[in-house]
Amino acid sequence: MIEISNVHKCFKDNEVLKGVTTNVAEGEVVCLIGPSGSGKSTLLRCINGFESYEKGSIVALGRKVDSHARDINELRRSIGMVFQHFNLFPHRTALENVMEGPVYVNREPRASARKKAVDLLNRVGLGSKCDAYPAQLSGGQQQRVAIARSLAMSPKAMLFDEPTSALDPELVGEVLSVMRGLAADGMTMIVVTHEMSFARDVADRVCFLHSGKIVEEGPASQVLTSPTEQKTQDFLRRVL
Ligand code: ADP
Ligand code: MG
Repeated sequence: MIEISNVHKCFKDNEVLKGVTTNVAEGEVVCLIGPSGSGKSTLLRCINGFESYEKGSIVALGRKVDSHARDINELRRSIGMVFQHFNLFPHRTALENVMEGPVYVNREPRASARKKAVDLLNRVGLGSKCDAYPAQLSGGQQQRVAIARSLAMSPKAMLFDEPTSALDPELVGEVLSVMRGLAADGMTMIVVTHEMSFARDVADRVCFLHSGKIVEEGPASQVLTSPTEQKTQDFLRRVL
């Protein structure tokens, strides 16, 4: 579903991705781990065309990803992205936040968009919070609204960039549990996370990125418990 081949990306003279190659199959959950600054966010941003890249290729959903292409917004709609900071519209309710994309971008009728939004808020456990404003919700609830908002566009794949890193520890579990549900329903997902227990339980594959290169990848059981590369071992020793 997503084919990443020898991708290089520079910011001025700083080469941030140095030949990244990996593929993500339909329904697969890949966790991307690695130290801060290793290029994880940049890689996700390249995949849905928020960033350009200089060399190599990314093919997503059967199309070459080119951030300058005229139809790039279509790709961005097909691949949902959830960030550390959820950026909900503060003056709109949870329900209105989830309806926003379908109504204003996809021009769906309000009634059907509303029904779908209610279903999605139920799915993330927030059926009772449809009329709440973001400020009235906890960080974990806001992040679940953000996931529902992303799902409202019926994405074919979802990218998560440290979705629980900004949350108080007691709120992390509720967001991870929604993500587990998505994975169980067969959503194709790339998840940048420092939650090693999530990676261990949910990921079909773990990729360890270091200085812009995938140093090691494989089943979670192998990469997280018996990594072969020294860099992976050092990283895991620090985070576990
Ligand atoms: P990670 O998500 O793994 O922490 P990033 O992809 O955010 O890493 O960043 C990788 C490197 O790219 C860092 O050195 C960072 O400073 C640099 N970088 C990221 N975004 C930009 C940008 N827009 N302009 C210049 N440098 C950037
Ligand atoms: Mg990052």
